[in-house]
Amino acid sequence: MHEHDQQQTSAHPEVSGTRGLVAALVVAAGSGQRFGGALPKQFQPLLGRPVLRHTLAAFADHPGVSRIFTVVHPDFETVARQAAQGLEATFVRGGDSRQESVRLGLEAMSEENPDIVLIHDGVRPLVSGRLIAAVRTLSGTGVAALPALRVVDTLKRIDRLGCRTENREDLYRAQTPQGFPYAAILAAHRRFADREVTDDIALAELAGLPVEVVDGDEDNLKITEPEDLRRAERILLSRLADIRTGTGFDVHRFDTTRDLWLGGVKLPEGPGLAGHSDADVALHAITDAVLGCLADGDIGMHFSPRDPRWRGAASSLFLQDARDRVHARGGVVAHVDLTLIGERPRIGPYRQAIRDSIANIMGLPVDRVSVKATTTERLGFIGREEGMAAQAVVTVRLPA
Ligand code: MG
Repeated sequence: MHEHDQQQTSAHPEVSGTRGLVAALVVAAGSGQRFGGALPKQFQPLLGRPVLRHTLAAFADHPGVSRIFTVVHPDFETVARQAAQGLEATFVRGGDSRQESVRLGLEAMSEENPDIVLIHDGVRPLVSGRLIAAVRTLSGTGVAALPALRVVDTLKRIDRLGCRTENREDLYRAQTPQGFPYAAILAAHRRFADREVTDDIALAELAGLPVEVVDGDEDNLKITEPEDLRRAERILLSRLADIRTGTGFDVHRFDTTRDLWLGGVKLPEGPGLAGHSDADVALHAITDAVLGCLADGDIGMHFSPRDPRWRGAASSLFLQDARDRVHARGGVVAHVDLTLIGERPRIGPYRQAIRDSIANIMGLPVDRVSVKATTTERLGFIGREEGMAAQAVVTVRLPA
């Protein structure tokens, strides 16, 4: 194994007869829940979206990757499909070990028969486009491509004999994606299925496939401990440095014949509000605030009150659409502050339910959703109990 020099790439013969078909195999078949919470770590939220979603999106967004396969545990297939919603990915059922899961994934793409396969840990959500491109290019020359980082810390062996210093020279930390000519790594997996290894390069080594190294990426961390999730969040947030504020304001007239919806919650007391949709004045104000952050018009522009499709519609649809617009630009909603303005009903008993509902619609932790309520001291149309108003301030972070 030797370090790869980018300038030498052209010296390698290109794989003959390639159709340039590059498949990604994302391994997310672990079912361990030691991480805390009800779900394995690949489904834990990272800035409001599952870790696996970030990982799959990195490959889906990459122009050099034509197909994505992901291996998941049968118990979590539904969760995985939800995480991948809107992304084109083929799901494969995993096995008892990582190694078996990868082999099953490789077998599942045999009909596709890609030229190159990039095998990646589902719990490395911060993989960069640069690294995917580098691994893809190198493995296209017919070798196994390993992203790795030199060990720079002094290594100690500490056991019952005490503490000794190990030689760190020539030692590397292996990352993924690891890239391979598909046929070669499939053959290696079949041949060495009974040899326990912890990554796929190890099988390439056993099979005698040449291995070359590309520079790994310190940010391409593997989420193993809860602290890794927080570190990943800090890295992601540092990339979302375009911080924007939007405001929204809305008023609806009371209509005693209708249900009262506030923040996606149907309150057991009224009066209800008049409107074309469910007239959820709170969600309308928040939706406008999100659109304000994007400078992308207002709720009436996207969901015309004259459009029969939105008659009686749940206003959560409007807010989800606005949230999706933020996600489509690679951003996140960071905070929501809502003020409900009305003489009745009293909001206090429903405040927590409304916060939970808004947090759920937006994919936000509930401590990033504030719900406040006030009256207008019996002054004006609100004071005369003709209707109620809502005001929202939303913070959005977009890639700088
Ligand atoms: Mg409205």
